[in-house]
Amino acid sequence: MINYKTLGLVNTRDMFAKAVKGGYAIPAFNFNNMEQLQAIVKASVETKSPVILQVSKGARDYANQTLLRYMAEGAVAYAKELGCEKPEIVLHLDHGDSFETCKSCIDMGFSSVMIDGSHLPYEENVALTKKVVEYAHQFDVTVEGELGVLAGVEDEVSAEESHYTKPEEVVDFVTKTGCDSLAISIGTSHGAYKFTPEQCTLDPETGRLLPPPLAFDVLAAIEKELPGFPIVLHGSSSVPQEDVDTINKYGGKMVAAVGIPEEQLRKAAKSAVCKINIDSDSRLAMTAAVRKTLAEKPGEFDPRKYLGPARESMQKLYMHKIINVLGSNDRL
Ligand SMILES: [Zn+2]
Repeated sequence: MINYKTLGLVNTRDMFAKAVKGGYAIPAFNFNNMEQLQAIVKASVETKSPVILQVSKGARDYANQTLLRYMAEGAVAYAKELGCEKPEIVLHLDHGDSFETCKSCIDMGFSSVMIDGSHLPYEENVALTKKVVEYAHQFDVTVEGELGVLAGVEDEVSAEESHYTKPEEVVDFVTKTGCDSLAISIGTSHGAYKFTPEQCTLDPETGRLLPPPLAFDVLAAIEKELPGFPIVLHGSSSVPQEDVDTINKYGGKMVAAVGIPEEQLRKAAKSAVCKINIDSDSRLAMTAAVRKTLAEKPGEFDPRKYLGPARESMQKLYMHKIINVLGSNDRL
Protein backbone atom coordinates (compact mmCIF):
# COMPACT_ATOMS: atom_id res chain seq x y z
CA MET A 1 0.00 0.00 0.00
CA ILE A 2 1.44 3.34 -1.09
CA ASN A 3 -0.31 6.55 -0.19
CA TYR A 4 -0.26 9.19 -2.89
CA LYS A 5 0.75 11.85 -0.38
CA THR A 6 4.18 10.27 -0.05
CA LEU A 7 4.55 10.66 -3.83
CA GLY A 8 3.86 14.41 -3.70
CA LEU A 9 0.49 14.09 -5.41
CA VAL A 10 -2.73 15.76 -4.26
CA ASN A 11 -6.40 14.77 -4.41
CA THR A 12 -9.02 16.89 -6.15
CA ARG A 13 -10.90 18.28 -3.13
CA ASP A 14 -9.30 21.71 -2.59
CA MET A 15 -8.53 22.06 -6.29
CA PHE A 16 -12.20 21.66 -7.23
CA ALA A 17 -13.48 23.91 -4.43
CA LYS A 18 -11.23 26.71 -5.70
CA ALA A 19 -12.17 26.09 -9.33
CA VAL A 20 -15.91 26.21 -8.67
CA LYS A 21 -15.49 29.41 -6.67
CA GLY A 22 -13.13 30.98 -9.19
CA GLY A 23 -15.19 30.12 -12.28
CA TYR A 24 -12.57 28.04 -14.07
CA ALA A 25 -11.95 24.34 -14.74
CA ILE A 26 -8.98 22.04 -14.11
CA PRO A 27 -7.57 20.28 -17.18
CA ALA A 28 -7.72 16.50 -17.06
CA PHE A 29 -5.29 15.26 -19.69
CA ASN A 30 -4.92 11.57 -20.47
CA PHE A 31 -1.41 10.22 -20.79
CA ASN A 32 0.20 6.97 -21.82
CA ASN A 33 3.71 7.87 -22.96
CA MET A 34 6.69 9.95 -21.93
CA GLU A 35 6.44 12.70 -24.54
CA GLN A 36 2.83 13.35 -23.63
CA LEU A 37 3.63 13.51 -19.94
CA GLN A 38 6.55 15.86 -20.51
CA ALA A 39 4.32 18.14 -22.56
CA ILE A 40 1.60 18.15 -19.88
CA VAL A 41 4.04 18.92 -17.07
CA LYS A 42 5.81 21.67 -19.01
CA ALA A 43 2.52 23.26 -20.05
CA SER A 44 1.13 23.24 -16.52
CA VAL A 45 4.35 24.62 -15.01
CA GLU A 46 4.68 27.38 -17.61
CA THR A 47 1.06 28.45 -17.14
CA LYS A 48 1.05 27.86 -13.36
CA SER A 49 -1.94 25.56 -13.61
CA PRO A 50 -2.98 22.66 -11.41
CA VAL A 51 -3.39 19.53 -13.51
CA ILE A 52 -5.01 16.11 -13.47
CA LEU A 53 -3.08 13.26 -15.09
CA GLN A 54 -5.58 10.67 -16.23
CA VAL A 55 -4.99 7.00 -16.82
CA SER A 56 -7.60 5.07 -18.78
CA LYS A 57 -7.99 1.33 -19.14
CA GLY A 58 -6.46 1.61 -22.60
CA ALA A 59 -3.46 3.42 -21.10
CA ARG A 60 -3.03 0.75 -18.41
CA ASP A 61 -3.14 -1.98 -21.02
CA TYR A 62 -0.72 -0.10 -23.25
CA ALA A 63 1.82 1.28 -20.80
CA ASN A 64 1.33 -0.75 -17.58
CA GLN A 65 -0.25 0.85 -14.52
CA THR A 66 2.82 0.44 -12.32
CA LEU A 67 4.99 2.23 -14.82
CA LEU A 68 2.40 5.00 -15.22
CA ARG A 69 2.29 5.46 -11.46
CA TYR A 70 6.07 5.93 -11.34
CA MET A 71 5.84 8.32 -14.26
CA ALA A 72 3.34 10.42 -12.27
CA GLU A 73 5.72 10.44 -9.34
CA GLY A 74 8.41 11.53 -11.76
CA ALA A 75 6.10 14.27 -13.02
CA VAL A 76 6.05 15.86 -9.56
CA ALA A 77 9.86 15.84 -9.41
CA TYR A 78 10.09 17.15 -12.97
CA ALA A 79 7.67 20.02 -12.25
CA LYS A 80 9.83 21.04 -9.28
CA GLU A 81 12.96 20.83 -11.41
CA LEU A 82 11.27 23.15 -13.92
CA GLY A 83 10.86 25.73 -11.16
CA CYS A 84 7.41 25.02 -9.75
CA GLU A 85 7.80 25.04 -5.97
CA LYS A 86 4.43 23.50 -5.13
CA PRO A 87 3.01 21.58 -8.06
CA GLU A 88 -0.60 20.46 -7.72
CA ILE A 89 -0.75 17.20 -9.64
CA VAL A 90 -3.51 14.62 -9.35
CA LEU A 91 -3.09 11.05 -10.57
CA HIS A 92 -6.58 9.97 -11.58
CA LEU A 93 -8.06 6.71 -12.82
CA ASP A 94 -10.31 7.47 -15.78
CA HIS A 95 -13.40 5.24 -16.19
CA GLY A 96 -12.69 2.70 -13.45
CA ASP A 97 -14.89 -0.24 -14.37
CA SER A 98 -14.97 -2.18 -11.09
CA PHE A 99 -14.32 -1.89 -7.37
CA GLU A 100 -11.22 -4.06 -7.81
CA THR A 101 -9.69 -1.77 -10.44
CA CYS A 102 -10.30 1.28 -8.27
CA LYS A 103 -8.89 -0.45 -5.19
CA SER A 104 -5.77 -1.54 -7.02
CA CYS A 105 -5.13 2.02 -8.22
CA ILE A 106 -5.76 3.50 -4.76
CA ASP A 107 -3.40 0.93 -3.23
CA MET A 108 -0.61 1.84 -5.60
CA GLY A 109 -0.72 5.60 -5.16
CA PHE A 110 -3.49 7.14 -7.26
CA SER A 111 -4.95 10.22 -5.56
CA SER A 112 -8.32 10.15 -7.31
CA VAL A 113 -10.44 7.55 -9.09
CA MET A 114 -13.50 7.51 -11.25
CA ILE A 115 -15.95 4.67 -10.86
CA ASP A 116 -18.08 4.56 -13.96
CA GLY A 117 -21.33 2.79 -13.19
CA SER A 118 -23.27 4.94 -15.64
CA HIS A 119 -24.19 1.94 -17.80
CA LEU A 120 -25.73 0.10 -14.82
CA PRO A 121 -29.28 0.39 -13.52
CA TYR A 122 -29.51 3.37 -11.14
CA GLU A 123 -29.51 1.45 -7.83
CA GLU A 124 -26.54 -0.67 -8.92
CA ASN A 125 -24.61 2.45 -9.90
CA VAL A 126 -25.35 3.89 -6.44
CA ALA A 127 -24.23 0.72 -4.64
CA LEU A 128 -20.99 0.35 -6.64
CA THR A 129 -20.05 4.02 -6.35
CA LYS A 130 -20.75 3.98 -2.60
CA LYS A 131 -18.51 0.94 -2.14
CA VAL A 132 -15.63 2.67 -3.92
CA VAL A 133 -16.16 5.91 -1.97
CA GLU A 134 -16.10 4.05 1.35
CA TYR A 135 -12.79 2.44 0.48
CA ALA A 136 -11.22 5.54 -1.10
CA HIS A 137 -12.11 7.96 1.67
CA GLN A 138 -10.20 5.91 4.24
CA PHE A 139 -7.09 7.08 2.41
CA ASP A 140 -8.36 10.56 1.51
CA VAL A 141 -8.60 9.60 -2.15
CA THR A 142 -11.35 11.47 -4.00
CA VAL A 143 -13.96 9.75 -6.17
CA GLU A 144 -15.76 10.81 -9.34
CA GLY A 145 -19.09 9.15 -10.10
CA GLU A 146 -21.13 9.34 -13.29
CA LEU A 147 -24.80 9.72 -14.09
CA GLY A 148 -26.08 9.77 -17.63
CA VAL A 149 -24.49 8.15 -20.68
CA LEU A 150 -22.12 9.75 -23.19
CA ALA A 151 -22.09 8.59 -26.79
CA GLY A 152 -18.89 7.83 -28.68
CA VAL A 153 -15.91 5.54 -28.45
CA GLU A 154 -12.78 6.05 -26.34
CA ASP A 155 -10.53 3.16 -25.42
CA GLU A 156 -12.80 0.60 -23.77
CA VAL A 157 -15.70 2.98 -23.26
CA SER A 158 -18.36 3.05 -25.90
CA ALA A 159 -22.06 3.74 -26.28
CA GLU A 160 -24.25 4.22 -29.31
CA GLU A 161 -26.53 6.87 -27.92
CA SER A 162 -26.25 9.45 -25.22
CA HIS A 163 -28.73 9.91 -22.40
CA TYR A 164 -28.63 13.22 -20.63
CA THR A 165 -28.19 13.19 -16.88
CA LYS A 166 -31.55 13.54 -15.12
CA PRO A 167 -31.35 16.56 -12.82
CA GLU A 168 -33.93 15.00 -10.49
CA GLU A 169 -31.52 12.14 -9.70
CA VAL A 170 -28.36 14.04 -8.81
CA VAL A 171 -29.08 14.97 -5.18
CA ASP A 172 -30.10 11.43 -4.31
CA PHE A 173 -27.01 10.00 -6.07
CA VAL A 174 -24.52 12.34 -4.45
CA THR A 175 -26.09 11.98 -0.99
CA LYS A 176 -26.29 8.19 -1.11
CA THR A 177 -22.83 7.59 -2.58
CA GLY A 178 -20.80 10.38 -0.95
CA CYS A 179 -18.88 10.92 -4.21
CA ASP A 180 -16.70 14.04 -4.46
CA SER A 181 -17.53 15.03 -8.03
CA LEU A 182 -20.03 14.02 -10.67
CA ALA A 183 -19.52 13.41 -14.38
CA ILE A 184 -22.64 14.34 -16.30
CA SER A 185 -23.94 13.95 -19.83
CA ILE A 186 -25.10 17.14 -21.54
CA GLY A 187 -24.16 16.33 -25.12
CA THR A 188 -20.38 15.92 -25.07
CA SER A 189 -19.11 12.69 -26.57
CA HIS A 190 -15.97 10.52 -26.55
CA GLY A 191 -13.45 10.35 -29.38
CA ALA A 192 -12.71 12.38 -32.53
CA TYR A 193 -15.90 11.41 -34.34
CA LYS A 194 -18.38 12.80 -31.87
CA PHE A 195 -21.28 13.38 -34.19
CA THR A 196 -22.54 12.01 -37.47
CA PRO A 197 -22.87 14.51 -40.33
CA GLU A 198 -26.68 14.10 -40.01
CA GLN A 199 -26.53 15.42 -36.44
CA CYS A 200 -24.60 18.51 -37.54
CA THR A 201 -25.48 21.64 -39.43
CA LEU A 202 -23.31 23.08 -42.17
CA ASP A 203 -21.64 26.43 -41.44
CA PRO A 204 -22.35 28.43 -44.61
CA GLU A 205 -19.22 30.59 -44.09
CA THR A 206 -16.61 27.88 -43.65
CA GLY A 207 -18.39 24.89 -45.17
CA ARG A 208 -17.60 22.91 -42.04
CA LEU A 209 -19.85 20.82 -39.83
CA LEU A 210 -21.20 22.43 -36.67
CA PRO A 211 -22.22 20.00 -33.90
CA PRO A 212 -25.46 20.30 -31.94
CA PRO A 213 -25.01 22.69 -28.98
CA LEU A 214 -24.47 21.36 -25.44
CA ALA A 215 -27.56 21.16 -23.22
CA PHE A 216 -26.80 24.14 -20.99
CA ASP A 217 -30.37 23.99 -19.65
CA VAL A 218 -29.64 20.53 -18.20
CA LEU A 219 -26.38 21.83 -16.70
CA ALA A 220 -28.22 24.78 -15.13
CA ALA A 221 -30.86 22.49 -13.66
CA ILE A 222 -28.14 20.24 -12.16
CA GLU A 223 -26.36 23.26 -10.67
CA LYS A 224 -29.61 24.38 -9.13
CA GLU A 225 -30.04 20.99 -7.47
CA LEU A 226 -26.43 20.80 -6.28
CA PRO A 227 -25.18 24.34 -5.72
CA GLY A 228 -21.37 24.51 -5.75
CA PHE A 229 -20.91 20.76 -6.25
CA PRO A 230 -18.01 19.87 -8.61
CA ILE A 231 -19.23 18.79 -12.04
CA VAL A 232 -17.10 16.97 -14.64
CA LEU A 233 -17.32 16.93 -18.42
CA HIS A 234 -15.95 13.96 -20.35
CA GLY A 235 -15.53 13.81 -24.11
CA SER A 236 -14.61 17.47 -24.38
CA SER A 237 -12.04 17.59 -27.13
CA SER A 238 -12.64 20.21 -29.79
CA VAL A 239 -11.01 18.29 -32.66
CA PRO A 240 -9.11 21.27 -34.14
CA GLN A 241 -9.71 21.36 -37.88
CA GLU A 242 -6.10 22.48 -38.54
CA ASP A 243 -4.80 19.23 -37.08
CA VAL A 244 -7.32 17.14 -39.01
CA ASP A 245 -6.34 19.03 -42.17
CA THR A 246 -2.61 18.45 -41.50
CA ILE A 247 -3.22 14.74 -40.91
CA ASN A 248 -5.18 14.48 -44.17
CA LYS A 249 -2.67 16.58 -46.10
CA TYR A 250 0.17 14.22 -45.18
CA GLY A 251 -1.48 10.93 -46.04
CA GLY A 252 -4.12 10.55 -43.33
CA LYS A 253 -7.77 9.93 -43.89
CA MET A 254 -9.99 11.41 -41.22
CA VAL A 255 -13.44 12.15 -42.56
CA ALA A 256 -16.11 14.13 -40.71
CA ALA A 257 -14.21 14.39 -37.42
CA VAL A 258 -16.15 16.88 -35.27
CA GLY A 259 -15.61 18.08 -31.69
CA ILE A 260 -17.11 20.44 -29.13
CA PRO A 261 -16.58 24.12 -30.04
CA GLU A 262 -14.22 25.85 -27.60
CA GLU A 263 -16.66 28.72 -26.90
CA GLN A 264 -19.06 26.20 -25.40
CA LEU A 265 -16.38 24.66 -23.21
CA ARG A 266 -15.30 28.13 -22.09
CA LYS A 267 -18.86 28.83 -21.06
CA ALA A 268 -19.06 25.51 -19.18
CA ALA A 269 -15.75 26.16 -17.39
CA LYS A 270 -17.23 29.30 -15.84
CA SER A 271 -20.04 27.24 -14.24
CA ALA A 272 -19.80 24.48 -11.62
CA VAL A 273 -17.97 22.41 -14.24
CA CYS A 274 -14.53 22.18 -12.64
CA LYS A 275 -12.88 19.31 -14.55
CA ILE A 276 -12.81 19.03 -18.31
CA ASN A 277 -11.37 15.89 -19.93
CA ILE A 278 -9.25 16.27 -23.02
CA ASP A 279 -7.69 13.30 -24.75
CA SER A 280 -8.43 13.18 -28.48
CA ASP A 281 -7.06 16.67 -29.15
CA SER A 282 -3.60 15.69 -27.97
CA ARG A 283 -3.73 12.51 -30.07
CA LEU A 284 -4.54 14.65 -33.09
CA ALA A 285 -1.76 17.16 -32.34
CA MET A 286 0.73 14.33 -31.97
CA THR A 287 -0.33 12.47 -35.10
CA ALA A 288 -0.39 15.65 -37.20
CA ALA A 289 3.17 16.53 -36.15
CA VAL A 290 4.50 13.01 -36.72
CA ARG A 291 2.89 12.75 -40.16
CA LYS A 292 4.18 16.17 -41.20
CA THR A 293 7.75 15.49 -40.07
CA LEU A 294 7.93 12.08 -41.68
CA ALA A 295 6.43 13.37 -44.94
CA GLU A 296 8.83 16.29 -45.09
CA LYS A 297 11.88 14.26 -44.07
CA PRO A 298 11.35 10.79 -45.51
CA GLY A 299 14.92 9.77 -44.69
CA GLU A 300 14.43 10.36 -40.96
CA PHE A 301 14.47 7.29 -38.75
CA ASP A 302 15.40 8.66 -35.31
CA PRO A 303 12.16 8.64 -33.28
CA ARG A 304 13.34 11.68 -31.31
CA LYS A 305 13.29 13.68 -34.54
CA TYR A 306 9.57 13.18 -35.01
CA LEU A 307 8.44 12.66 -31.42
CA GLY A 308 10.24 15.89 -30.44
CA PRO A 309 8.07 18.07 -32.72
CA ALA A 310 5.03 16.04 -31.61
CA ARG A 311 5.84 16.86 -28.00
CA GLU A 312 6.15 20.56 -28.80
CA SER A 313 2.88 20.51 -30.63
CA MET A 314 1.11 18.82 -27.70
CA GLN A 315 2.58 21.32 -25.23
CA LYS A 316 1.26 24.19 -27.34
CA LEU A 317 -2.17 22.57 -27.39
CA TYR A 318 -2.20 22.03 -23.60
CA MET A 319 -1.17 25.64 -22.95
CA HIS A 320 -3.85 26.91 -25.30
CA LYS A 321 -6.50 24.85 -23.49
CA ILE A 322 -5.34 26.00 -20.06
CA ILE A 323 -5.20 29.70 -20.93
CA ASN A 324 -7.92 30.15 -23.53
CA VAL A 325 -10.50 27.52 -22.69
CA LEU A 326 -10.30 26.42 -19.04
CA GLY A 327 -8.85 29.53 -17.39
CA SER A 328 -6.81 27.50 -14.91
CA ASN A 329 -3.60 29.49 -15.50
CA ASP A 330 -1.96 31.51 -12.69
CA ARG A 331 -3.63 29.47 -9.98
CA LEU A 332 -0.55 28.01 -8.28
ZN1 LIG B 1 -14.63 9.70 -20.46
